[in-house]
Amino acid sequence: MGKRTNKTRPNLVPHPRYGSAPRPSGIAIPEAEIRNGYWRLGHDEIYPETVLLADTSRQDFSIYPRRYYVDVLRHCRQCGRDFLFFAREQKYWFETLRFNVDADCVHCPECRRQTQTVRRRLRRYSDLRRKPDITRKELMHLVDDAAFLLTHGVLRDLNVLGQIKNRALREIAEYPGVQLLARLLEKARATEATTKA
Ligand SMILES: [Zn+2]
Repeated sequence: MGKRTNKTRPNLVPHPRYGSAPRPSGIAIPEAEIRNGYWRLGHDEIYPETVLLADTSRQDFSIYPRRYYVDVLRHCRQCGRDFLFFAREQKYWFETLRFNVDADCVHCPECRRQTQTVRRRLRRYSDLRRKPDITRKELMHLVDDAAFLLTHGVLRDLNVLGQIKNRALREIAEYPGVQLLARLLEKARATEATTKA
């Protein structure tokens, strides 16, 4: 049986809506009963005072439904930090969005948001790269996205990024983002040279 501690964990990644502390629900159900309510909860750190009753008729499950939702501690697969997968969030996932009940939350709220930002900027970057004519404003976006995506390890073709930088130097040299991209590229090239040596 997993041990449960009531001490507050200082390093929980906060959820934008629910914060970073367990949210008591006012419902009292014994911990053992909660753990029996879903096979996967056997060893997880849970907070029984947060329990919510599930409406299993709204769930998508093959054999075992989730009879309760309870705040549960999770470790982010991407950044390794702890976060809470909240009972309320689970209710939304499994009854409103109707995700399969065996789905689990493996990324913390910050990493989830960052992934969405990366996706959005990569889409804009790709769109702008395909456009035959782009405005000065769009070139600024392209420069910013290139710098952002390079920093996040999404773009690795330094020659393509170099072409964007050179074009920006010709057309919008006064834009501060161009200097930033130039510095990032220099650093990336230096790193690449060290790795190859
Ligand atoms: Zn994370």
